[in-house]
Amino acid sequence: MNPNILHKTKIWLSSPHMGGNERRYVQEAFDTNWVAPLGPNVDGFENDLKSFLQEDCHVAVLSSGTAALHLGLILLGVKAGDEVLCQSFTFSASANPIKYLGANPIFIDSEKNTWNISPKLLEEAIRERLSKGRKPKAIVAVHLYGMPYMVDEIKEISLRYDIPILEDSAEALGSMYQGEKCGTFGDIAILSFNGNKIITTSGGGALLTKDEYLRDQAVFLATQARDSAPHYQHSVVGHNYRMSNVLAGIGRGQMEVIEDRIEARRNNYHFYKEHLQSLNNIEFLDEPDGFFSNRWLSCILAPSFEIREAIRLSLEDENIDSRPLWKPMHLQPVFARCQSFVNGVSEDLFERGLCLPSGSNLEPQDLERIVKNVKRIVQ
Ligand SMILES: *Cc1c(COP(=O)(O)O)cnc(C)c1O
Repeated sequence: MNPNILHKTKIWLSSPHMGGNERRYVQEAFDTNWVAPLGPNVDGFENDLKSFLQEDCHVAVLSSGTAALHLGLILLGVKAGDEVLCQSFTFSASANPIKYLGANPIFIDSEKNTWNISPKLLEEAIRERLSKGRKPKAIVAVHLYGMPYMVDEIKEISLRYDIPILEDSAEALGSMYQGEKCGTFGDIAILSFNGNKIITTSGGGALLTKDEYLRDQAVFLATQARDSAPHYQHSVVGHNYRMSNVLAGIGRGQMEVIEDRIEARRNNYHFYKEHLQSLNNIEFLDEPDGFFSNRWLSCILAPSFEIREAIRLSLEDENIDSRPLWKPMHLQPVFARCQSFVNGVSEDLFERGLCLPSGSNLEPQDLERIVKNVKRIVQ
C-alpha cells in the first residue's frame, strides 16, 4: 500500500446518505414501542413507495431484495427442477434464489444499448427449450446500474410465449421507461434498500405487484405462512422475511429525499462524461430515447482490460474506491454447469468496464479529484 494513502480522504463507491428525518421516524418507533416487524413505519414506507411508483402498485416491504426475489419466484410458481431464464450480466442475488428453490437458471447475455438482457438471445433460448419439450417458468430481467432493460421487447416475448417476468429493479428505483417507473413492468418486481443502493434502510427490500392477491400472499409467506386460527397452524412452508418497523423508519426518511438522490447521481454521471469523454476511447452508456436512468453507479469503458486495471489501481493508490463491472453469471464458478446463451457482450463489459464513485453525497472536490486521477492515467 502507498504510505501516502493515509493522508488521503477515502472516497467510497456508493455510501449511505441520510436525509435528516430518518432518526425522527426511528425515534417514533421506540417512543411507541413498535420495535417489531410490523407497525406504522412499515405501513408508511409501503405507502410512500406506492405513491412514488404508481397508485395501482401494491407493495410489501421485506428484509432484503434477495428475499423479495425468492418470494417472487415462489409466487410465479417456480419449483424444484424448473428452468428460469436469467440475465447473466447482474449481481449474483438475481440468480441465487433460483437455486434456493432447486430450480435451474439458464443465463442470457446482454445487448449493447442498455447492457441488459438481449431480446434476441432470450427468444432463441425459449425456442431452444421449447424444442426440447421444456417450457421455462419465468424470466428474471434486470435494470442494471439503473438503466432500464428493453421493456417493450422483453414484455412482448413474455406475452407471446406466456412466461412471466420477475423484474429485478434493485438498482433502479426512480429510473423510467417511456415515463413509467421501473418496478411497474414485471408480473412481479423487486427493490433493494441495501447500504449501497440509491436509498437505504441499512438492509431491506420490497416486492411490487399490481395484483393485490399476490402482494398479500407475499406478506403471508414472509411472516411464516400462518393460517387463520387462534393457535399456530401452517399448511405451507413459510419464511421470516418481513421488514422491521425500525428500519422502515429509515426508509420513510429516505423517501423524503429520493428526488434529490436521483438528481445527484445523475449529476455525477454528467460530470464524469463532460470531463472524461474527450479522452481517447473512454466510453459511456447513453440513455436511448425514452430511457431515464437513475445512474445508480456511473460506469466507464476503457479501451482495454490493461488500461481499466491501470485506472483502478491508481485510484486505489489515491484511496478512491472503484469496481469492475459485474462478472457475468455464466462465468461464475458457482454457476459453471448452468446452460447459457451468450454473444460476448457481457464478457467484454466485464473486461473493460469500471464503476466510478457514484454516491449522492460526493462533494465537487471529490469529483474533481477522481477525474484528475483518471485523466493522469489515460493521457
Ligand atoms: C442489490 C441487488 C440485489 C439484492 O438486494 P439485497 O437487498 O442486497 O438482497 C438483487 N439484484 C441486484 C441487481 C442488486 O444489485
